[in-house]
Amino acid sequence: ESATLSQIGLAGLAVMGQNLALNIAEKGFPISVYNRTTSKVDETVDRAQREGGLPLFGQYSPKEFVLSIKKPRSIIILVKAGAPVDQTIAALATHMDPGDTIVDGGNEWYENTERRVSEASAKGLLYLGMGVSGGEDGARNGPSLMPGGSHTAYLNIHHILDKVAAQVDDGPCVTYIGEGGSGNFVKMVHNGIEYGDMQLISEAYDVLKNVGGLSNDELAEIFTEWNRGELESFLIEITSDIFRVEDVETGNGHLVDKILDKTGMKGTGKWTVQQAAELSIAAPTIAASLDSRYMSGLKEEREEASEIFKKEGLNEDINNVGTVDKKRLIDDVRQALYASKICSYAQGMNLLRAKSVEKGWNLNLGELARIWKGGCIIRAVFLDRIKQAYQRNPGLANLLVDPDFAREMVQRQAAWRRVVGLAIQKGISVPGMSASLQYFDTYRRGRLPANLVQAQRDYFGAHTYERIDVPGAFHTEWSKLA
Ligand code: NAP
Repeated sequence: ESATLSQIGLAGLAVMGQNLALNIAEKGFPISVYNRTTSKVDETVDRAQREGGLPLFGQYSPKEFVLSIKKPRSIIILVKAGAPVDQTIAALATHMDPGDTIVDGGNEWYENTERRVSEASAKGLLYLGMGVSGGEDGARNGPSLMPGGSHTAYLNIHHILDKVAAQVDDGPCVTYIGEGGSGNFVKMVHNGIEYGDMQLISEAYDVLKNVGGLSNDELAEIFTEWNRGELESFLIEITSDIFRVEDVETGNGHLVDKILDKTGMKGTGKWTVQQAAELSIAAPTIAASLDSRYMSGLKEEREEASEIFKKEGLNEDINNVGTVDKKRLIDDVRQALYASKICSYAQGMNLLRAKSVEKGWNLNLGELARIWKGGCIIRAVFLDRIKQAYQRNPGLANLLVDPDFAREMVQRQAAWRRVVGLAIQKGISVPGMSASLQYFDTYRRGRLPANLVQAQRDYFGAHTYERIDVPGAFHTEWSKLA
């Protein structure tokens, strides 16, 4: 009997679960699978057969499922985040034994994971909240995995995770993140950074198209070319593909032009911005990306506004910026995109560090950059440079002041200002690129106009101020002296 037991189990066979289960089976680990709606169990078993007779075993009840796994059991759950996770845990945990592990692979709010870590431990169960990135394809062929929670639980399955994760030059894209909900938190920030990357790319597209007049064919070529240099990344690569796809529906033009300009979202970007605010970490690029998604949702309002301003004589195309040197614009936009991206990652990394300090997670930022090099949506060549920056100096205050990145920022800032300036002149919104530029310009200035804000605060609220020359807190009766 025991010879037939599976090495691991997976419950929740929607897109992510099904593909991750097949990936695990393909790496040679016999796996039991279960789903509330059992037709998905049959579907997964069929796929396992079709994809080469993989060692995957369908189970049709929580009890059969749990009992089909070798002890100490490890069960990955991939269901909708929130209440479905609690319900799934409840259904499985009654059949599990002390020492067994639950691994939630969903995009879960980290505090839910922390609650479940302690609920599980009250029953003698171990718990991991594991961020999984890479979408359907990553799950099937190698995702980036961010497991946090019980270290013992991690040790029980790390030989499996090492094989299942994406593989890059310096190892598998998985590492033990830290205690509690750290794995989910890191995945959340990964998604926030992803929002930033996508927004910045869409702004590059907007400027190239509406200032440079580039066609979809030209854009496809430019992005392909960019993908051979410092911007090489999954998102740049898929963007070049997108510009090539024709609209099959009408047989007329490219599909990208037929897509409604209204962005969906599932909440991890919003959580990232909320956490940044809670921790007093400036994350303006990520916040601008979130705001842009909100404003994209106001499609009807925007169309009405466009008409109202047109009637007032303000066309969408505000200023004729004259003929631009296309070649130079393309190169400038490339540099602006890269510099903006560095600022966005700096914000994400600083948010992770602040949370790590608050929670005592001891996050290794260089190692996080490393496991994002493959498998996940933000995978990029440039993450290796971030890894190196934190290896050189784990206490680095901000990525921008790493000597290599500082040099790159200086080399790109003129092109970056040209792009943002041109966009502003023409009335094209570039919230991500300008937020990044403002972040840079604020961070690199030794003196800001915050002295005036302090004076105002002291004037109306007696909040006191510090002086640049003498230590201590000072208050002035401003109105009497004015
Ligand atoms: P999903 O659409 O989020 O969830 C569907 C799965 O949840 C089905 O297996 C469904 O079972 C199960 N479920 C829903 N409510 C349930 C309940 N009350 N009790 C038991 N099971 C319940 O699936 P997904 O897209 O594969 O995502 C799974 C998790 O991974 C989510 O947290 C998601 O945010 C995260 N994630 C997704 C992606 C992606 O690209 N899709 C990428 C990274 C992370 P039934 O079949 O019985 O309805």
